[in-house]
Amino acid sequence: MVTYSEFLSEATKFMRASEIRELLKLTETRKIISFAGGLPDPQTFPIKHLKKIAKEVIEKNGAKALQYSPTKGVTCYREELAKFLSRNRGLKVDIEEIVVTTGSQQALDIIARTLINPNDIVIVEAPTYLAALNAFRIQRPNFIGIPIDDNGMKVDVLEDILKKLRSEGKKVKFLYTVPIAQNPSGVTLSPDRKKRLLELAEEYDFLVVEDDVYGLLVFDASVDTTPLKVIDKTGRVIYVGSFSKILSPGMRLGHIVAPKELADVFERCKQALDLHTPTLTQYIAAEALRKGIIEENLPRIRELYRSKRDVMVEAIAENFPENVWYTKPIGGMFVWVKLNMNIDTKELLPKAVERGVAYVPGKAFYHDMSGIDTMRLNFSYPSPKEIREGIKILGNLIKEVAKSSQ
Ligand code: PMP
Repeated sequence: MVTYSEFLSEATKFMRASEIRELLKLTETRKIISFAGGLPDPQTFPIKHLKKIAKEVIEKNGAKALQYSPTKGVTCYREELAKFLSRNRGLKVDIEEIVVTTGSQQALDIIARTLINPNDIVIVEAPTYLAALNAFRIQRPNFIGIPIDDNGMKVDVLEDILKKLRSEGKKVKFLYTVPIAQNPSGVTLSPDRKKRLLELAEEYDFLVVEDDVYGLLVFDASVDTTPLKVIDKTGRVIYVGSFSKILSPGMRLGHIVAPKELADVFERCKQALDLHTPTLTQYIAAEALRKGIIEENLPRIRELYRSKRDVMVEAIAENFPENVWYTKPIGGMFVWVKLNMNIDTKELLPKAVERGVAYVPGKAFYHDMSGIDTMRLNFSYPSPKEIREGIKILGNLIKEVAKSSQ
């Protein structure tokens, strides 16, 4: 008998299974309305176009598309990506500043490996994207969480914390933010706060990791979605993007945009991780970008998610108790709920699953596992009918439990 645990590295102690993935397993076995995942609606995948492009790429360019390729990414893909980012996000980038990654999740892993030393201070939103916490955690930083409200991270609280850290002689390595339609909360950082955040990065000398995976998934046209990277004048922002939410998550296409000096370090790190992102998907995506397929598809995706968001927000207003706080996201895939009562949403979950509904308890999205009475609800995947039904079931359950605990 081999005792495998004796052979495991220290780092494995910090590798957490995502609570969401564990949960999804639970919901696979039976018919359940799931607000738990973060899956795009498959209706949004441009299947016909991709089928045609994939065939053409293999027929006409198979020798290159099926071969190994450069670590930073296939040149023709990076060129198309640079143009896409310029057209749609106002970013002016040289292709040497781009590292194509295997999903943006790998971008977060690379950033963690290349920037974090044990005990370095990393600032995150509280709550924040769970799998970013898990990617960073393996390098053993000290997290500091900044609370959010409807306008995103509370930058005044950030400033107070930075002042305190400075008085203790401590420095921050980087701040990680999902400024637009955040996962899990759906909130968006206001223009004033964006400006102030960058001023603080300059004043207190730290880097900003901007996770812009929902930047193009905004339904409310009046909202300012300018990336921090565009406003940044001093090269402090490391920009992370992805085609998972607006093309296909299965293609695993993410990217980092950073000053060349950093991009070169990220390239070295990526080389050790997987040599490069699959060549074939990069060739297919290059062609999809050249043909404008994503831009053509975006209005349809936005409209679909806008209508599902409306259904969810209206159903919550109708069915949840009055003192509950919930966000009304201008984009993305999630509504965040704070029950404002003495209910542990993790304890509530088995009861919800019993009645046929799943969600993610909010605790997992906090660096310190606080946020006991919060939950994340996904609206991109379930149908409008399921959203109405599921929210009603959940609302009734919450009311019942609240009553019985009074
Ligand atoms: N960042 C955020 C904020 C996300 O929500 C996700 C996906 N849930 C990712 C990064 C990773 O996505 P991918 O690896 O598919 O690009």
